[in-house]
Amino acid sequence: MSRPDPATSLNGVQTGHICDSCNKQIQHGDKVSMYATWYDEGGWTPRRTWCMKCCPGSVDPGTEGADEVIVEAVFWSHQLAGVRVKDRSRPIEQ
Ligand SMILES: [Zn+2]
Repeated sequence: MSRPDPATSLNGVQTGHICDSCNKQIQHGDKVSMYATWYDEGGWTPRRTWCMKCCPGSVDPGTEGADEVIVEAVFWSHQLAGVRVKDRSRPIEQ
C-alpha cells in the first residue's frame, strides 16, 4: 500500500487567498501553509489554508486513523507551488 507523496500531490492545487484563521489576504508570491488529509476516494484533500503567522508547526492533536499533513508552499496564481511537508501524522497501525 503506497500513497502518493503529499508534497507532489498538493503541488499545483487550487487554494483560497484568505487565511482561515486571521482572514489576512495572501498575496501572489507569499508563503502559505495548508492542512490536508488523505481520503481513499479523493486522495490528498486540502482542508485549511493559513498565512505563515497562523500556521501550526505540527499536526497537533493528530486525528486517530487519519493521515494528515501540514505543508508550506508558495501561493502562486491561486495554486500551491514548491510544496514542502512540514509535519505528517500517520494513522496508528494496529
Ligand atoms: Zn493568518
